[in-house]
Amino acid sequence: MTIKVPFVDLKLQNLPIQTQLQTAINDVISKGDFILGQALSDFEKAFAAASGVEYGIGVASGTDAISLGLQACNIGVGDEVILPSNTFIATLIGVTDAGAKPVLVDCDDQTALIDLEAAAKAITPKTKAIIPVHLYGQMVSPRQLLDFANTHNIVIFEDAAQAHLAEKEGYKAGSVGLAAAFSFYPSKNLGAFGDGGMVLTQDPQIAAKMRSLRNYGASQKYVHTSKGVNSRLDTLQANILNQKLPLLSGWNSDRFSSAQKYDQQLAPLASVGITPIENQSGSGHIYHLYVIKIDHSCHIKRQELQEKLNLAGIQTGIHYPIPCHLQPGFTDLGYQPGDFPQAEKLSQQILSLPMYPGLTDSQIKEVINAIQTIVGDGKH
Ligand SMILES: *Cc1c(COP(=O)(O)O)cnc(C)c1O
Repeated sequence: MTIKVPFVDLKLQNLPIQTQLQTAINDVISKGDFILGQALSDFEKAFAAASGVEYGIGVASGTDAISLGLQACNIGVGDEVILPSNTFIATLIGVTDAGAKPVLVDCDDQTALIDLEAAAKAITPKTKAIIPVHLYGQMVSPRQLLDFANTHNIVIFEDAAQAHLAEKEGYKAGSVGLAAAFSFYPSKNLGAFGDGGMVLTQDPQIAAKMRSLRNYGASQKYVHTSKGVNSRLDTLQANILNQKLPLLSGWNSDRFSSAQKYDQQLAPLASVGITPIENQSGSGHIYHLYVIKIDHSCHIKRQELQEKLNLAGIQTGIHYPIPCHLQPGFTDLGYQPGDFPQAEKLSQQILSLPMYPGLTDSQIKEVINAIQTIVGDGKH
C-alpha cells in the first residue's frame, strides 16, 4: 500500500537547507571541538534567548534534561513530584532518575493537560515540585500554574519537550518555572539528527549546577563536586540546531495554519462524536501533534478508524495508548486501572493525525475525506 499522507516528513525541513547543514557539520569537523564546543554555547544562548530565558544548558536528551534539571533544582530522594499520568513516559523516568517520588494525577478531558484541581488534592508535606507537561504543543496556563505554586509553596519544573516557542498569557514555554526541560529528538518541532535536550533557567546557580552535573559533576577539570553524569549535547548536533532555530517560528506557524484547516474541516464531524482536543491557547499552540478524540458516542471505534485510514494510505499515531500509571514497568508505584479516569478514557479515544511543516492543503483534504468516507461507511 502506498503512503499518501505520512505521519511526519522530516525531509521537507532538511532538504531545503541541506547545503547549509553540511557546511555546519564541516565547520565542527574542521574546528574539532566536538564536546562542549563553540557551536554548543552559541546554540544554548540562542535557544534560551528565543524562549525569553537567561541560561540554556545542552544535555544528551530530553529525559536527561528532566532528571538533571530536577537535581539542579535540589529535588531528589525524599521529595514528591506531581506530574500528569497523560504524558510520554520520559516525564516519569526523569523524576525517578532524579531519585524523587513521582505522584501522578489525572488530566483535563478537554485539553488533555494536567488537572490542577487534581494536583491540589495530591499535595502533601513532602511535595517539592509540579511538572506541567505542555502536551501536544499547548501550554498549561502560566497564571494558574504560578498561582498554584505560590499557594502550595512548591517549584514549577516545565516539561516543554513538545512546546518549543509555544506561548500563553504572555509567557513562552520554558519561562514560567524555576527551570524547564526541552528535547531535540528528531521529530520534535525543533529536532536534531539524533538525541539531544536542554534545560532552561533564569537562575545562575541552577545553571552552574547543571553545567557541572552534565559534565561528570565537575566544577573545574578533575574536581568533582557532585555525583554527575556524562550527558552533553554534542557540538555537531548543536550546530545543526543552530541552522534550524531561525526557521522554527515559521515552521510552527505552518503547523498552526494546518491545524486551523483541520479544525474547520472536522467541524461537521462533531455531530458524529469526532472532535479535536481543545485549543485554549489561540495562536500560541505550536501543534507538535494534532490530536482528535473519537467519542464513545461515535459508531466507529478508534482502532477501526486507524486501521482503515492506514489502508487508505494515511498514517496516524496514538499519543499515548497506555497512561503512565498503567505501564507494566511501573507497577511498583502501586496504581490501578480506574485511578485516573480521564487519562484512561483519552488513551482509548485519541488519534494523532499527520502534522508537520509542509503538509499541504490537498493532503489535509485527503485525510478529512478519508475520515468522512470511513465514518460514513460505518452507518450502513
Ligand atoms: C520527547 C519527550 C520527552 C523526552 O525526550 P527525549 O529527548 O526523547 O528523551 C519528555 N517529555 C515529553 C512530553 C516528550 O514528548
